[in-house]
Amino acid sequence: MSKPGSEARPPAADGLVCRECGASNDAGSSECWLCNGRSLASAAAGSSPRPRGFFSSISGWMVAIAGLAVCMGLYALAPGMLFLAAISVLPAIAAVEVKAARRRRLGLPMSAAERVVIFVLITVVTPVLVVGAAVIALIAYCSMTGPVNFH
Ligand SMILES: [Zn+2]
Repeated sequence: MSKPGSEARPPAADGLVCRECGASNDAGSSECWLCNGRSLASAAAGSSPRPRGFFSSISGWMVAIAGLAVCMGLYALAPGMLFLAAISVLPAIAAVEVKAARRRRLGLPMSAAERVVIFVLITVVTPVLVVGAAVIALIAYCSMTGPVNFH
């Protein structure tokens, strides 16, 4: 009836969490794989270890690498597009981080898929809004300065 040699082992208590960036490290690590920080704490110790940094999650790295690739591609095609990409990617990263932090505080951590969806939405919507605002400003400017011949 009784289990032979039952070892009471706490589940997932042998991992280490970096105090610098919040990345998860393997047990026995002396340095963080992500930031090379040496202050690793046991994942089981203390209250819930909260990963804080954007790059502590795989989705953060995926988005960063994808963003970098897009920026490099845009720069090769048209350097002007890089500026547009920068003004849309940077607020997108910030907005995703703010939303993720808010969700963590509520005890509902955001999934990687959700983060990517929000990031892509903001990245697409921001340039559309910026271009739309620029067009409206141009139209307003032209109507103020009098009739201009467009041919
Ligand atoms: Zn670290």
